[in-house]
Amino acid sequence: MDRLKVTSPAKLNLILDVLAKRPDGYHELQTIFERISLCDEITLIPNKSRKIKIHSSHPHVPKGPGNIAYKAAMMLAQDFSISEGLDINIIKNIPVAAGLAGGSSNAAAVLLGLNRLWQLGLNTKALAGYASRIGSDVAFFIYNTSYALGTGRGELIRPLGIKTKLWHLLVTPRVKMYTPEVFARLKLNLTNKKDSVNILLPFLRKGDIVQLAGSLSNDLEPVILSLRPDFIKLKKKLFDAGASGVCFSGSGPSVFALAKSYKHALSLRAKFDKRYTQAFVVSTL
Ligand code: ATP
Repeated sequence: MDRLKVTSPAKLNLILDVLAKRPDGYHELQTIFERISLCDEITLIPNKSRKIKIHSSHPHVPKGPGNIAYKAAMMLAQDFSISEGLDINIIKNIPVAAGLAGGSSNAAAVLLGLNRLWQLGLNTKALAGYASRIGSDVAFFIYNTSYALGTGRGELIRPLGIKTKLWHLLVTPRVKMYTPEVFARLKLNLTNKKDSVNILLPFLRKGDIVQLAGSLSNDLEPVILSLRPDFIKLKKKLFDAGASGVCFSGSGPSVFALAKSYKHALSLRAKFDKRYTQAFVVSTL
């Protein structure tokens, strides 16, 4: 094989429960991931340089070892004594640092792609092991599943065999939210915890959009709104456009509206404030 193209999808969190702060500084989470149709495109091209190089025209994508796709390739190259070089071309469509796990997905796509390109014979469990050493959100993308339950830091994955296809209008405001800052400001409310995952799952299985809309939740929302009170208006605009439910993904700033169908998602986009230029109609992948 002289080159390999891999698709690298984004994720949304339909539920993000923050359960506790752990002694290692991370938070114990319970989340439902949804893989969505907004994707980066990655091409892996072996070269003779003996170096791993990242290429991307996006200004905020790190071009060297700071790129976690680079880290993924380097881990496999070292463990399997691969000395040939590699060009990793990343076409970025997923907004960066937006709560959509674009970087994590790129790293997973490189693990999956190099397993084929370099014929490493790694199974899903072994690939997920590499993934969880790279970052909390990477392992989800190793599994060929639309939805999964994530626990631990988010790296312990249980694929959910759910076939429901959802439609969303996804809006990513052009502001930076720093994940560590959002978690640092979180005041954990350990009382009155409802079992959000088990409430939502039956509605997701049935594709009951009305009930699903009322069951979306993200424990980081109060922090996101305290950092950016103007996002209250953004949520209202999505409801005013006709959204069934609205929720932030990860630590924001991306916010997604639940639509009843593709047509409904298109009508949400048509009615939504045109000043938000990063507004995507997306579906479950
Ligand atoms: P997180 O919640 O982990 O911060 P995110 O989904 O909000 O993730 P990403 O798009 O993954 O955001 O980017 C987070 C940071 O990771 C960026 O600021 C960027 O500097 C760095 N990064 C490293 N590798 C990549 C990559 N392949 N694509 C995008 N960003 C990357």
